[in-house]
Amino acid sequence: MRREEADGTSPLSQPRCEIEKTPLEGECQRPGEVRYKGILLVCRPHAALLELEERAETVLGSVFRMDEWLEENGSLGADEEYLGRIRHEREEALGALRLIRGQIRSARKEVLQ
Ligand SMILES: [Zn+2]
Repeated sequence: MRREEADGTSPLSQPRCEIEKTPLEGECQRPGEVRYKGILLVCRPHAALLELEERAETVLGSVFRMDEWLEENGSLGADEEYLGRIRHEREEALGALRLIRGQIRSARKEVLQ
């Protein structure tokens, strides 16, 4: 109890980051500041990381669906213009995914600090 005061860290009333309640992360010593999805109270770096990982998953899901569609329709003489549009969209999604991966890498570094 006294230790916190001596360290000059957050007061006792400040709850801690609850990231250890998710399967992918260990304990975190930072104070919980952001309510993630209305459930977990997490620190800012972990909130940023969780959001990025979720966005990556969403984009990955859409690439997966486009791949499936292309596999089913790509050789069946589907409308070329439409096919082209889907392929273009897929490329854009992959580009976005690369970007998000970079952001996730730096967010992970931030979390470890
Ligand atoms: Zn945290």
